[in-house]
Amino acid sequence: MDFGLFVGGSFRDSARKREIRVPYDGSVFARVALGDADVLQQAVAAARSGFAQMRVLTRARRAEILLEVRRRLLEEAGHFARVIASESGKPLREARLEVQRGASTLLFSANEALSLAGEEVPMDASAHGAGRMAMVVREPLGVIAAITPFNFPLNLSLHKIGPALAAGNAVVHKPASATPVSALELARLFAEAGLPAGALNVVPGPGAELGEALALDPAVAMVTFTGSPEVGVRLREIAGLKRVTLELGSNSAVIVESDADLDLAVPLCVSGAFAHSGQVCISVQRIFVQRDVLGSFLERVVDGAVAMQRGHPLEEETAVSSLISEAEAVRVEDWLEEAVFAGGRLVAGGERDGTRMAPAVVAEAPAATRLMAREAFGPVVAVNGYSTLDEAIAMVNASDYGLQASIFTRDIGKAFRAARAVEVGGFLINDVPQFRADQMPYGGVKLSGTGREGPHYAIEEMTERKLIVWRV
Ligand code: NDP
Repeated sequence: MDFGLFVGGSFRDSARKREIRVPYDGSVFARVALGDADVLQQAVAAARSGFAQMRVLTRARRAEILLEVRRRLLEEAGHFARVIASESGKPLREARLEVQRGASTLLFSANEALSLAGEEVPMDASAHGAGRMAMVVREPLGVIAAITPFNFPLNLSLHKIGPALAAGNAVVHKPASATPVSALELARLFAEAGLPAGALNVVPGPGAELGEALALDPAVAMVTFTGSPEVGVRLREIAGLKRVTLELGSNSAVIVESDADLDLAVPLCVSGAFAHSGQVCISVQRIFVQRDVLGSFLERVVDGAVAMQRGHPLEEETAVSSLISEAEAVRVEDWLEEAVFAGGRLVAGGERDGTRMAPAVVAEAPAATRLMAREAFGPVVAVNGYSTLDEAIAMVNASDYGLQASIFTRDIGKAFRAARAVEVGGFLINDVPQFRADQMPYGGVKLSGTGREGPHYAIEEMTERKLIVWRV
């Protein structure tokens, strides 16, 4: 299948092309037209005129369009799941879930379009203000640049496009080079649903070239980025006075107290670590287990890891497929070797074949190894013992990242003590940090980023408050 890029409301071809391959076996799934600096400028210009139409569209109409896209997405759910699975290598059953979650993101965005409102300022609360009335209106920012990663090519795109359009902005979307088809198919749905031409533009192409050009473009009012910390920091450096939202990575941690319900904790930790081969920003990467239950916990996690069905992403039974590229798989293998060399014990998996890797469990990896200190973004989990809860909290916080973390315990007092002490954007009790529902405020502290997503929170960042004062 050939896909054009989407500018000014229509698809067009270009001389530059990229073959999109199924990462599991390298087979070609699609060919996509790529943009360059000129096309990007045209997309930004189209977005400027799209914005002129969006800002006068009623809230009701914006919501209608978002709900119509949702209806069409659900109608084509099977097609979108196959596209996601093929280009990202995500197993079909998880790809189906991503489509359902994308539909939720659209629903919550439509609700925000309907309820977006400012407020009255109580002017006579000061003698100086008496005799005046004032209101704050919420206005769209203008053109928003959305730059997205490969691992949730549909839903993470919608977390930017949905609230941006709900607020009356226009969008230029630069999807990940490995996974542009979901974004282009989504643009088709928006066009079919009657979105004004230019309000959404999708320009696939190399991130360093197009992403940086967007962050530097004076006609862009905001950059909303999900991806790696290195790129996020760079974008913030060059974006000047633009708004910047950064959803970056993490090495998410779980604390398992000895009073925890292991029947609950073990399967959640196994799926939380290995779903989409660990290529999820809130994947379970570090598990700290109180020593009395460390042996039995580890044994059961290993059983769970070994039992995961591996295979092609389009096969129904597949639970673990491949990493996005061989280079990424080699990097993860290298980190595993380093952890073992430093004294960690590889107790399951880790065998690599091209882009594929068996789910790996490492016990007692030292804190200074990359497996513990950085974001693995692969099918690996580290399990370490601890004695006291304070020690476990300190281990969780000994990280440059802080997206989500969690605890398993039957003691509510301990759970809340940890919730208050752990430095993260979100903390879960008797669940894994890998859980996310799309209405949640979602984002991190430290190297995990700035700003929050979830349509209600994203729209805060995608609107400006304007004050209007009048004498009465
Ligand atoms: P990257 O940072 O490599 O890429 C993300 C996007 O940025 C892609 O579209 C990429 O384009 C683009 N890009 C690359 N270089 C630049 C640049 N110099 N300037 C502007 N844009 C650029 O991340 P991955 O796609 O590998 O995704 C994995 C990362 O995303 C992980 O760190 C993960 O934790 C994080 N993530 C965070 C989430 C969150 O919500 N906090 C959710 C999901 C993932 P191209 O593909 O062409 O290189």
